[in-house]
Amino acid sequence: MKNNCVFCAIADGEIPCFKVYEDDLVLAYLDINPFTEGHTLVIPKAHYTGLLDTPPDVLKEIIVRVQKVAAHLKSALPCDGFNVLQNNGAAAGQTVPHVHFHIVPRYGEGGGISFKSGEGNMDVLKVLAERIRM
Ligand code: 5GP
Ligand code: ZN
Repeated sequence: MKNNCVFCAIADGEIPCFKVYEDDLVLAYLDINPFTEGHTLVIPKAHYTGLLDTPPDVLKEIIVRVQKVAAHLKSALPCDGFNVLQNNGAAAGQTVPHVHFHIVPRYGEGGGISFKSGEGNMDVLKVLAERIRM
């Protein structure tokens, strides 16, 4: 398997998928363990691990495809919204180290994701922003 990578194997047709969209640069297919009906992954056919090692020019092309697939899902499914998720590193829940965008259609009102909001302390936020400002 190229790059010892399951998503490369899917892109190469070695492992089957339920394809939603394909062009020369990307492949989009249904997630095998969907969060919701229509949960779709968009991957570049080339292997990059995550957001930080994907060349900016490639990334620009991918995000336009994410928009295109999301717009299609929004019209093809009775969903009310969708999340776009992109995990980097095991700490962020990334399980497949081939960069991918999740498009998760959402049904009904008020669907969140499982982060818990904290209460912002203005002094703490100010110091932090000064520390990390680019
Ligand atoms: P991550 O947690 O890395 O952001 O997301 C990886 C996703 O890939 C998971 O949602 C998982 O269900 C999905 N996945 C893993 N292996 C396969 C596979 O062989 N085929 C498909 N269609 N999805 C997969
Ligand atoms: Zn790969």
